[in-house]
Amino acid sequence: MTRHVDVLIIGAGLSGIGVACHLTREQTGRSYAILERRTAIGGTWDLFRYPGIRSDSDMMTFGYGFRPWIGTKVLADGPSIRQYVEDTAEEYGVKEHIHFGRKVTTARWSSAENIWTVEALDEQTGAVETFTSNFLVGCTGYYDYDNGYRPEFPGEADFGGQIVHPQHWPEDLDYRGKRVVVIGSGATAITLVPAMSKDAAHVTMLQRSPTYITALPADDPVAVGMKLARVPAAIAYRAGRARNIALQRASFQLSRTNPAASRKVLLAAVRLQLGSKIDMRHFTPSYNPWDQRLCVVPSGDLFKVLRSGEASIVTDRIETFTETGIRLASGEELPADIVISATGLRVQMLGGATLEVDGEPVVTRDRVVYKGALLDGIPNALMVLGYTNASWTLKADLAAEYFCRILNHMKARGYTKMVAVAEEADRSTESVMGGALTSGYIQRGDAVMPRQGARGPWQVINNYFRDRKMLRKEPIEDGVLTFSHPEAEAVVRPLAAKRTA
Ligand SMILES: Cc1cc2nc3c(=O)[nH]c(=O)nc-3n(C[C@H](O)[C@H](O)[C@H](O)COP(=O)(O)OP(=O)(O)OC[C@H]3O[C@@H](n4cnc5c(N)ncnc54)[C@H](O)[C@@H]3O)c2cc1C
Repeated sequence: MTRHVDVLIIGAGLSGIGVACHLTREQTGRSYAILERRTAIGGTWDLFRYPGIRSDSDMMTFGYGFRPWIGTKVLADGPSIRQYVEDTAEEYGVKEHIHFGRKVTTARWSSAENIWTVEALDEQTGAVETFTSNFLVGCTGYYDYDNGYRPEFPGEADFGGQIVHPQHWPEDLDYRGKRVVVIGSGATAITLVPAMSKDAAHVTMLQRSPTYITALPADDPVAVGMKLARVPAAIAYRAGRARNIALQRASFQLSRTNPAASRKVLLAAVRLQLGSKIDMRHFTPSYNPWDQRLCVVPSGDLFKVLRSGEASIVTDRIETFTETGIRLASGEELPADIVISATGLRVQMLGGATLEVDGEPVVTRDRVVYKGALLDGIPNALMVLGYTNASWTLKADLAAEYFCRILNHMKARGYTKMVAVAEEADRSTESVMGGALTSGYIQRGDAVMPRQGARGPWQVINNYFRDRKMLRKEPIEDGVLTFSHPEAEAVVRPLAAKRTA
């Protein structure tokens, strides 16, 4: 049996639930369904279960723009974020539109019918279901849910302990009284080290190279003040959000315009946290601030366990695993009962599903992104990819709003098809995330990520203020995004509109 909806969304994480809410909020009047591979809402925040799992974005900007995050904590734990997404879905009646346990394997666009045909596999039963829709929305995040990035280390087979990847945390992992080594220097490693230090005999953070880490207060003092003063939650949220967006932008901007000053400020703050006991070389990166995502720790929890001796940090290279631990290039041996390989994600687009347009397979790497939301040459489709240099949700919200604007525009004018097609001069070889960050997973993901363009709406600007203006205010019909009517497939390109070079 084939089911048809106006809009088919893949993924019920933060982005998919957000798009569904926007479809209702912006009164698009379109029917929709969500196909979700897992059996629960929340995506990332349902999948990751390691100790201490939390956001590293502040919740005022990581929350949806349309639904306040109630709470004064700057960062939130994973279960609370999952609950927030679930509650949002509940409030907007999204849940009954979700088909759980359906893994989308292919999506095919037919220009003859102006329709997407999507196949979804029920991984429990092996049954394949077919859905059709007028529009397709990819909200599958950016990484492979089945496999984390896990380099193979020499001598692993000799190791007598357990090796764990944070993406596949064993529910029954008992690390009480054990010696733990956490390999990595990113957000996951710096979360795990203080969280596991409470119960482990000792935790060693083993990194190849340092990362910029900044301590944030656990509670937002302004939010606490507003709560005490009984400022309505929606107003407090809006004010806090505006402030945090501006602060985040200013921090990023300083790192671009004056990296030396930005570096000085960040390193001085770390020095204060470390005191005299810990060598600054473990926290002095070779790159400039925001060349990779800045890592944050609530109340300096990482620095506290390092100062107390519950945890230690080592910057070195792994020579080999041994039966009892890890031998480093320096000759030092790290004894370990458990090794956590916090080595990151494997980048994947569309959750591994294949795309076809009129029988031609689509290679996402060959496509340029239009306004950071649509893919060139792929009709009636939105792909939600959030910011990497700010909270993901800021961009996911804007992309969803923009998509709803397009839907309403099409309805008002009787259009059934929209597509943006890049010209040769619009293209560039740079990845959609290339300009912003040089993190390992982004470099590894270059093989699959779409490209950003060389000019105009094809350029990815990673700037909330500019994106907000472009996606909320600029005319939908800009001479690049083209529309067509059902009968006359004649493309409507307004003559007055000009390409922005
Ligand atoms: C540990 C961790 C911490 C993070 N912390 C932050 C942070 O603090 N701030 C920030 O801005 N970003 C953070 N991120 C990035 C984070 O992924 C996004 O912020 C956000 O959660 C992405 O939401 P999403 O809905 O787009 O994708 P996801 O959360 O990845 O959800 C995608 C959904 O799509 C489903 N799906 C995938 N493929 C298919 C398919 N083929 N068929 C059907 N369903 C499919 C998945 O099952 C999942 O439910 C973090 C990422 C990780 C891994």
